[in-house]
Amino acid sequence: MSCHQCQDLCIEYRIALPTELRKAIKIAHENIIDGTIEEILSKADRSGQIPFIELAKSGAWDDVLCYRFRCQECGEAFCLTAETYHGSGGSWKPERKGAIRAVP
Ligand SMILES: [Zn+2]
Repeated sequence: MSCHQCQDLCIEYRIALPTELRKAIKIAHENIIDGTIEEILSKADRSGQIPFIELAKSGAWDDVLCYRFRCQECGEAFCLTAETYHGSGGSWKPERKGAIRAVP
């Protein structure tokens, strides 16, 4: 279901280092600003988590974060998860496996 708007985001980007998380947050933030994606807000997700846009602006984030987004054009859903305390990982990826573009 991905479209030309979000095809660049339809990749699995593994996050292992704080610098990679920073980059992933920056890219997601830019795509929210330009209207490509929006944060998916659900009550269940709001367990003390600040809105993503605030998080991105603050430059300071929790050790564990989990945010969901969707393409404004086609509705493709994405998730950004990270665990920065141990730097052990996280990723940016479309929620639907079939949406992940093969990266050569
Ligand atoms: Zn799309």
